[in-house]
Amino acid sequence: MDPRTQQLLAARLQYYRDLGIYDFYRRDLSATNQAPSGATECSPARSAGYARPINEAVPSGTAEVEGRPIPASITAPEDLFAAPKPEAGVADHAKALRLIQEDLGECTRCVLSRLGRKTVVFGEGDPNGELMFVGEGPGADEDEQGRPFVGRAGQLLNKMIEAMGLKREQVYIANVVKCRPPGNRTPESGEIETCSPFLLRQIAVIQPKAIVALGAVAARCLLGLNEPMAKLRGRWFDFRGTRLAVTYHPAFLLRDPRQKKETWKDLQMVMEYLGLKPRRAPE
Ligand code: URA
Repeated sequence: MDPRTQQLLAARLQYYRDLGIYDFYRRDLSATNQAPSGATECSPARSAGYARPINEAVPSGTAEVEGRPIPASITAPEDLFAAPKPEAGVADHAKALRLIQEDLGECTRCVLSRLGRKTVVFGEGDPNGELMFVGEGPGADEDEQGRPFVGRAGQLLNKMIEAMGLKREQVYIANVVKCRPPGNRTPESGEIETCSPFLLRQIAVIQPKAIVALGAVAARCLLGLNEPMAKLRGRWFDFRGTRLAVTYHPAFLLRDPRQKKETWKDLQMVMEYLGLKPRRAPE
């Protein structure tokens, strides 16, 4: 690359860093490297090289989901223009998370900051927790209090966590987007694209043993798969070397309590992996 182009590129990268964007991806435009059909454009999924179910035999270099080949050549961010993030090299998880939160700040990177959000809901819990729950985005109660899952869905999530034999403070809870979408609408892809790098950084710091994606938005964001929930739940996926399970969002369970038993099966799978004692199903 000639020095002038290099200089321009460096200036552009610095501009992105000032905006809090650290991860860059090389798109390989050859036909074999297109994203799989049905995959979303969420950055965690892209940077993870897409996920694959655990325990399914795949030819080396190729992941496969539901019989569809998934190219493994989507470039991980570390190998290209890797810029040091503020939390890089910080061993103390709590401190590293504080640095990410400071970097996020009173975020105005996407339109959600101008659509009535009151607080940026970063996430909370044990920075060293073995288990992490990822939801969709804050609702009205969360926006009011600045904490994730504190409304009715949050109360059900608390029951689920307790039924697993854990306390809420022992897990980490975060969302795909940190600001409340107006009227609790589903976050749009641009909003997810902008915000999800912060979630990815939280996961990288916490290094949980297992992640539970609550609902389709979190699952699709992290896995890059556009499969229906029924096909995603009940099994393990690999997310950058961490086990990831998908289950129904507690807000959905409030609307359709019959699905609680399915969620309980998913949570039992997680409990078994984490070595947690079997408990009674949550009400
Ligand atoms: N729903 C979510 O997905 N996240 C919250 O924090 C609250 C409700």
